[in-house]
Amino acid sequence: MSHLQDLRPLTHAERIEARAHAARLLAGKRPERMHDVSMHTGKYPASVQRIVYALAVLVLIAAFVPSAIRLYAAGSTAFMHGVQDGTSARIVGIATIAIAEVGQLIFSLALALVADNAPARRVMYAGMALTTAIALVGNWTIAAPVSVAGGLMPFAVLETVTPPLIVLGIGYVLKGRMLYAIEGRTAAQRVHTAALDAWQHALDHAEDHPQWGRYYVQALKDAIARANNRGNAKEARAALTDAQWRDLVLRELHADRVLAGLYDAAQTTHATTHALPEHAGGADASMHRHAGGANGTHAHARAHASNNAGVRTGEFADAVKERGGEWVATCPYCQREFSKANEQAARMALTAHKRGCTVAEGLEN
Ligand SMILES: [Zn+2]
Repeated sequence: MSHLQDLRPLTHAERIEARAHAARLLAGKRPERMHDVSMHTGKYPASVQRIVYALAVLVLIAAFVPSAIRLYAAGSTAFMHGVQDGTSARIVGIATIAIAEVGQLIFSLALALVADNAPARRVMYAGMALTTAIALVGNWTIAAPVSVAGGLMPFAVLETVTPPLIVLGIGYVLKGRMLYAIEGRTAAQRVHTAALDAWQHALDHAEDHPQWGRYYVQALKDAIARANNRGNAKEARAALTDAQWRDLVLRELHADRVLAGLYDAAQTTHATTHALPEHAGGADASMHRHAGGANGTHAHARAHASNNAGVRTGEFADAVKERGGEWVATCPYCQREFSKANEQAARMALTAHKRGCTVAEGLEN
């Protein structure tokens, strides 16, 4: 047997930390944010996908530039037929680029985002067709891939019609990709938020978990071991019997009660007069009481208490107190309180609770 007086009890801060530690262990790891699920769901590595999309954007720009220059020329010269003003013609040239090239991209984006019915979709497709027609005809007018003899020049034709078609095609693919990525991010965000809520709930309600007592008792034991890790205390700790460990943990569980008692005292003056003297010797009394009980089996102690509900003996001897006209039973393990109109009812409530008290259960093993 070791000398329990060599062992330092936990401070309030250490007990609070032990409680928080048990709750954290029960709740598990805080869910981490997923970065971009859309990049991880494909068959190929994210780096390959990024290279492909970077090249697609490069081709899009390469197709956009010649097409835009021709469309500018087409738009401004066509305008000059009606209005002979240089500045206006330049503005119209830029507007033509916007209508033809940006229009292609915008109509396909709008198709996915806002066209939720068939008529709207038809309008969007018509818009894509019209803007593509403007781009094709505009390019054709300026490039004029026709020889002096009047015949078509194959390469010139391809070089003329390809840029507007590339803008349309790649714009369409990138748009789909972009929407998919946004969708994936939003979904990941939703999943993460739900996981975070569940984790927070588990953390907040850790004390309702069926395993709570086991985790809390273990956390208290770990804290006691940390607090007594050198000199006489370390030696005393090494020689502790199971029953002494149990009593040490009970001492800390009772100290929790003192903390709660001080809080109650601040709430009502009545509590001050009763709670403080009663808890001053609480730890010693419980050490004594349970040191005796530890010689028998715990199962016996529990059965004994259950069979004698209403009798002032055993582990519940001083668990029921009159306070403010009510009878309050306090669980000696988890310190939960049960207020009833009379002593008998309070004792029965405590006995019923004891069967499911996870802290009492945690102390038994
Ligand atoms: Zn309890």
